[in-house]
Amino acid sequence: MSGDASLHKVLIVGSGPAGLTAAIYAARANLAPLVIEGEPSSTSDQPGGQLMLTTEVENYPGFPDGIMGPDLMLRFREQASKFGATFITAKVTKVDFSQRPFHVFVGSTKYSAASIIISTGAQSLMLGLEDELRLVGHGLSTCATCDGFFFRNKEVAVVGGGDSALEEAMFLTKFASKVVLIHRRDSLRATKIMQERAFKNEKISFLWNSHVSKIHGHSKLSGVEVTSTIDGSRSNLDIDGLFVAIGHRPNTDLFKGILDMDDNGYLRTVVGSTATNIEGVFACGDVQDHTYRQAITAAGSGCMAAMDCEKWLESQHS
Ligand code: NAP
Repeated sequence: MSGDASLHKVLIVGSGPAGLTAAIYAARANLAPLVIEGEPSSTSDQPGGQLMLTTEVENYPGFPDGIMGPDLMLRFREQASKFGATFITAKVTKVDFSQRPFHVFVGSTKYSAASIIISTGAQSLMLGLEDELRLVGHGLSTCATCDGFFFRNKEVAVVGGGDSALEEAMFLTKFASKVVLIHRRDSLRATKIMQERAFKNEKISFLWNSHVSKIHGHSKLSGVEVTSTIDGSRSNLDIDGLFVAIGHRPNTDLFKGILDMDDNGYLRTVVGSTATNIEGVFACGDVQDHTYRQAITAAGSGCMAAMDCEKWLESQHS
């Protein structure tokens, strides 16, 4: 087994807004963090996280004219680098948190660290259609809070029948002229209160027993083909935007059986802190937050993780 002989003070896994903010804070606290940032070819572990799949970000404070998601992440990375964070562009394949120092593996290469910050994020589940990823940010979105504003007076559709889909649909009615909710069954999975609100909302109409079978548009989404799950009949829906809200999956496979998780696989952290159930291992960003899922909240929790980690490292020497 090859190895990096150093004992790092802090090793950060993941490099979205949470991991990179943790890196900035840890670097400025002289902890020289090592960031294993992910692999560019992967949709779940790409360096920079989910913002690498977006276009314009208009709600990140400090950028009144907006900034492209990948540019924002590049700036975070430069800032972390400037203060002494180092990066390895690779995907972590295994972790061993059974004893200290902790070990993190990239294939057969072992990295050792006194503390760990996990910021591996989450991924939106997608429909698996041709062209879907290409049109993200060009009419196709997985976040109404992020992109709803771009659909003022336009017609949009939301796919899904859970709380996320209804929440997105209701949020979108603030901007869009019409919101069609496309669901594959004839009843919703969402909680009753959300259902009642959605049914009452005059801007929302429901397309039951239907699934999106094709996405139309070259440089920009122009509509979708919808197929009936009952008789297979197809129809076209002219819309300007499609919001896929069929759930999220936290990137926590590496930590199964090692760290405490909730029923949906999100890492559990102590309330008001970023501590996990293993002392010295911290978690921040979407990997432990299924509620807010914003770049700014992820960045905020990344800052918390670095501060919690610094304090914990100090406590080990006293
Ligand atoms: P979810 O409850 O798993 O719902 C996913 C929905 O997407 C389901 O209706 C499902 O259809 C549909 N779906 C899944 N795969 C699909 C596919 N390939 N094609 C078409 N449709 C597909 O996910 P969620 O809505 O993200 O919610 C996750 C958890 O967070 C839930 O516990 C929810 O209550 C919670 N949440 C709460 C709030 C809130 O309280 N404000 C807001 C958001 C989420 P089927 O119904 O046919 O399976």
